[in-house]
Amino acid sequence: MSDIIRATLDNYQTALTVFVCLFVLERIRPVEQRQPLFGIAFNLLIAVMLAAATQITMKLVFSAMPPLPFGPILTVAPQTTWHGKLLSELLVLLLYDFFAYWLHRLEHNVPILWRMHKLHHEEEHLNVTTTNRHHPLEALLRVPFVMLPLVTFFDLPFSTLAFGVSLGVLLPAFSHMNLRLEFGCLTPLFIGPQLHRLHHSKEEEHHNRNFANIFPIWDVLFDTYLAPQRGQFPPTGLRSAGMKNEGPALVAYTNLSSSS
Ligand SMILES: [Zn+2]
Ligand SMILES: [Zn+2]
Repeated sequence: MSDIIRATLDNYQTALTVFVCLFVLERIRPVEQRQPLFGIAFNLLIAVMLAAATQITMKLVFSAMPPLPFGPILTVAPQTTWHGKLLSELLVLLLYDFFAYWLHRLEHNVPILWRMHKLHHEEEHLNVTTTNRHHPLEALLRVPFVMLPLVTFFDLPFSTLAFGVSLGVLLPAFSHMNLRLEFGCLTPLFIGPQLHRLHHSKEEEHHNRNFANIFPIWDVLFDTYLAPQRGQFPPTGLRSAGMKNEGPALVAYTNLSSSS
C-alpha cells in the first residue's frame, strides 16, 4: 500500500506541469474571454488543501485496512505487449471511473454530501483550476469509495494501477477547461469540456446529469446521460444568484420530498 501512496505523491509534479499546459491551451478558444483571477487563486489554494487532505486520508485508510477474508474479484497479470498494456490501463480507468461515478451521484443526492460537493458547483467561471475545487473533506470519501475498492477487489499490476489512477486524477482537468471544444458524435465516448459543462450548468433541465468523470458510458448505462446540442455552452454555477443554497441535488431532493 505504501508504494501506491508514494507513487501518487510523486505524480503531483507531473500534475502541476499538465495543469499549466492546459491553462495555456485554454487561451486558444475560450468559452469566456475574461475570468476573475481571484477565483483561480481561490481554486489553487483549495487544491493545496485537497492534496494535503488526500495524503492524510490515504495514509490513515490504507494503514488501518485489515486483510480481507476473501480474494480479489479479478486478477490481471502484468502485460508484455503494447496492446495488453493498453487494455489493462483501459480496464483500470473504467473501474476507477465506475466507483467515481457512483460516489459523484451520491454526492448529488444525499443532502449532507451535497453540502460538501456544492463548493465544486459554486464555480461560475469553469476553467482547468475548477478540477481541484473540492471541499477537502471530499478526500475522506474519495479514498475509501474509489481508491480502496479498486485496490481491494482487483489484483492489478502495480505499475498499471499507479499509472491508471494518475490518469484518473488528471483527465478531469481536461473536462473542466474553459475551451469551446465539441466532440460531436464522439461525445458519448470520452468526457470533454462541453459535456461536463452541462453537468455544471445553471439550467434546471441539465441538473443531475453526466456524472462520469472520464467515460460517459456509465451515464449512458445508468440513464443519466444528456447529450449537448451543437454550440451549447450554458452558463455555469448554482441555479441563480438569489438561490445560492439551492443547487441541483437539493432542488431534486426537495421535489422528491414534496411529491411524496
Ligand atoms: Zn457534481
Ligand atoms: Zn466538475
